[in-house]
Amino acid sequence: MRIAVLRETAPGEARVALVPDVVQRLAKAGHQISIEAGAGLPAGFTDAEYEKAGARVHASRAEALTGVELVARVRRPTPAEIGEVPQGSTLVSMLGVEPVEALVPALAARNLTLLGLERVPRITRAQSMDVLSSQATVAGYKAVLLGASELGKLLPMLTTAAGTLAPAKVLVLGAGVAGLQAIATARRLGAVVSGFDVRPAAREQVLSLGASFVGPEVSADYEGEGGYARTLTAEEQAKTRDALAAAVPHHDLVISTAQVPGRKAPILIDAKGVATLRPGSVVVDLAAETGGNVEGSKAGERVVIGGVVVLGPVQLAATVPLHASQMFARNVLTLVQHLSTKEGALKIDPEDEITKAMLVTLSGQVPGGTGR
Ligand code: NAD
Repeated sequence: MRIAVLRETAPGEARVALVPDVVQRLAKAGHQISIEAGAGLPAGFTDAEYEKAGARVHASRAEALTGVELVARVRRPTPAEIGEVPQGSTLVSMLGVEPVEALVPALAARNLTLLGLERVPRITRAQSMDVLSSQATVAGYKAVLLGASELGKLLPMLTTAAGTLAPAKVLVLGAGVAGLQAIATARRLGAVVSGFDVRPAAREQVLSLGASFVGPEVSADYEGEGGYARTLTAEEQAKTRDALAAAVPHHDLVISTAQVPGRKAPILIDAKGVATLRPGSVVVDLAAETGGNVEGSKAGERVVIGGVVVLGPVQLAATVPLHASQMFARNVLTLVQHLSTKEGALKIDPEDEITKAMLVTLSGQVPGGTGR
């Protein structure tokens, strides 16, 4: 199969869809890889490394796209970029939070197939294709570093000739992939860490990382489809917020990661809760892009509310582009293997469980006839 990798164009995006190691594995399997010159540079990979791995590097995007069957990208393409892709080919990318319907006319005009990487089902067989998990791992780690660098305190306990410093107290809300990584990172940096989630399984995982569990009793029926949390009723949400309200003021750094797939993120700390934090405390709201877990957080912005710094970072994994790209590329590799016949040709099977879940368009048509 002929695969192209292009330079990412979204502002601040430094990741690349395939890294040289993965290109080498694809080339060995008989695939031909075209790279737009400079595509890997923001993530730390040179054109020479791609060439050594067996790719052809092309000076222009148009040349890189000539005759390709599959285009791998990190971020969703714009309608104009879709217009550059060869007729009838397949695009693989993340879709982001904006509705995908806006892309359908451009995809239809060129009979393109678009597979959305966030739609990979959370089943064991598809685990190694799961970009949500790989990128959330990076984001959870980086959230702790961002928070720590804003904080007027050190995270670890220090006993020095100039006195003893107490360790900082970190609270992580939502203990999924990003939250558990944040807990592990904050623990390694020496903070005293607590976590909270509504799923009983997450409680066990928080405790197993050496953090304590705060908040209300978790109930088995808070767990919805596929191991995710479900949306809580207004009464359940109020109970959760009240219990957290008692725990929040004792913390220096709060990292919130709670999400409900396809829905607005739940508010876990309201304005009153933010006001109970001491000035100089820091909140990192990783859910800011989907509405936020903390009242007042703004996607992509740093705001100060009553002396509390509230960060709402978006696409945080893009700020650790080398390792984020390495994991992303491994996810794409497994997907390409899944989409390949024994002879290495591209085969999109709309009845396959994984492919079906990912399809935005198949040869320009929305499966089932409506946009999702
Ligand atoms: P996510 O990003 O959707 O949510 C993050 C966390 O927020 C979750 O743990 C969720 O329970 C929690 N949350 C939701 N509402 C909350 C609330 N009101 N209060 C507190 N916490 C709340 O989830 P994720 O991190 O992508 O994954 C969650 C689950 O999916 C985990 O069980 C994980 O092990 C599982 N998973 C499975 C696979 C797989 O099998 N392929 C891959 C990745 C994740």
